[in-house]
Amino acid sequence: MKNESVIIVESLTKMFGNFTAVDTISFEVKKGEIFGFLGANGAGKTTAMKMLIGIGKPTSGKAQVAGFDVFKNPEEIKKNIGYMSQKFALYDDLTVKENITFFGGIYGLSRIQIKEKTISLIEELGLQEIENKLVGSLPLGWKQKIAFSTALLHNPKIIFLDEPTSGVDPITRRQFWEMIYKTANNGTTIFVTTHYMDEAEYCDRVSIMVNGKIEALDTPKNLKSQFQVHNMNDVFLKLARG
Ligand code: ATP
Repeated sequence: MKNESVIIVESLTKMFGNFTAVDTISFEVKKGEIFGFLGANGAGKTTAMKMLIGIGKPTSGKAQVAGFDVFKNPEEIKKNIGYMSQKFALYDDLTVKENITFFGGIYGLSRIQIKEKTISLIEELGLQEIENKLVGSLPLGWKQKIAFSTALLHNPKIIFLDEPTSGVDPITRRQFWEMIYKTANNGTTIFVTTHYMDEAEYCDRVSIMVNGKIEALDTPKNLKSQFQVHNMNDVFLKLARG
């Protein structure tokens, strides 16, 4: 259903002792939307994302992801989402093909499904020449593209991307974003954190976190007009850096 909300967050809060890392945040993300989740280092993005993917228990508030409650059904959430981060993506000491087979297994795909998916993914990304190479020997940009496709093997409703293009060159970043657009066009929701403000411009909507709170949330166009600046970099500087 178009316009269906696949992430619904209400007053979600995470405390570490007396410190409030995520402070009563509320927002909704629609099916097929590209949602940018921005904030300076330490703003609380990773902590918030961990709660949404079912690996960090909220202190209070409510959140539903892919139709499941983060308190009651964190295991169901894991089955219905994909996750990729810059820090953890693929195993360097497995080949491209072995990584796809391994993650297909983790995501519960049958042998036949894995075989079919491996063939289509290798063809789609033009990996025929390197399918038997160790992932550790590939350039970072390639690794990230393969990791993104691998995180989609089980056709998740939402994919969470935590700084997916960190350290990747601008041309490969642009290609990576073309993959993101294509995936969103097919109805998969993209929830992405980034420190690159040109990427923030590519999102349908962007939220900006400051000290655990969401201080702004709108389309890039509306945010620029609200803050009377010409680019997302200046929006970010005005908000996140005061
Ligand atoms: P970055 O862009 O650097 O990844 P972030 O916005 O993802 O930053 P978080 O990693 O969510 O920020 O951290 C938010 C705050 O919570 C920081 O002040 C951090 O030190 C604190 N924090 C995170 N995890 C814990 C923990 N397990 N125990 C105590 N404090 C924590």
